[in-house]
Amino acid sequence: MYCHSVMLEEISALDKAVTETFSIGKSLMGRDIICIKTGRGERKLFLGGAYHGLEYLTAALLVKFVSRYTESAARGEPFFGFNARALFDEVTLFTVPMVNPDGVDIAVNGIDLTNEHHRALLGTVGIHDFKNTWQANARGVDINHNFDADWDRVLDKPSASKYGGEYPHSESETRAVVDLLRKENFDMMLAFHSQGAEIYCDFNGKTEESALKTAQKMAAASGYEVKIPTGTASFGGCKDWFIKEFHRPGFTVEIGRGKNPLPMTMLDDVYAENAPLILCAINECAHITQTT
Ligand SMILES: [Zn+2]
Repeated sequence: MYCHSVMLEEISALDKAVTETFSIGKSLMGRDIICIKTGRGERKLFLGGAYHGLEYLTAALLVKFVSRYTESAARGEPFFGFNARALFDEVTLFTVPMVNPDGVDIAVNGIDLTNEHHRALLGTVGIHDFKNTWQANARGVDINHNFDADWDRVLDKPSASKYGGEYPHSESETRAVVDLLRKENFDMMLAFHSQGAEIYCDFNGKTEESALKTAQKMAAASGYEVKIPTGTASFGGCKDWFIKEFHRPGFTVEIGRGKNPLPMTMLDDVYAENAPLILCAINECAHITQTT
């Protein structure tokens, strides 16, 4: 299984000549929320994964992508038909593979009764099945409902998923991402979830024409489908907040098809689909014309 410690090991093996690694904050339980910075272009793209505990395959995917992409850039080799070195020179990529490390830990390992946070959860959540069901953080707040974009509590108490928290940005994991997004002035962002083989680019029932075109290119690169929800406004998610706050293109990518948690044996398949999708996004980001 792909938990925080496995991810840290993989990240420590990345080539330091082409990657820089730092913490953007800590989870409730004190785990570092790691960002990998790579590339040296003026344009900036953010990639985020594992907002949800069960969706740790997105973290494994992003670390694998950064590793292979930077190798290709360093060697000057073509990468899925793209010139990785040229993209490396045009776009600076910030990747936070695991936004919610405590949630991944609970989804993978279940509850640890020796831990005070876990014991508190048992009291507030009132369920007994954590392993293979847990999406939220270690306080039972769903990070992808905690962003300040048409925020709604949705549920009235902590839960395995969908509880938005006491107020927007109440959680340290959410604030770590918000602070980074505010600081770096990104041109574009992609938030990875599982599953469905789908791409979303809407907020509040509206879809920008330019974002839709980019989504369609990413769909062509991956075999995924662009979904435009009608009537149902999305809210509280990272891409929702990014679009609302910066009026720039933000996307949710739902990797793979199946039932969460998608097994680690699917990593090669989702990598084959999403490496071209991410390269397409980097290429779009390199050539984007911002109006705001
Ligand atoms: Zn998700």
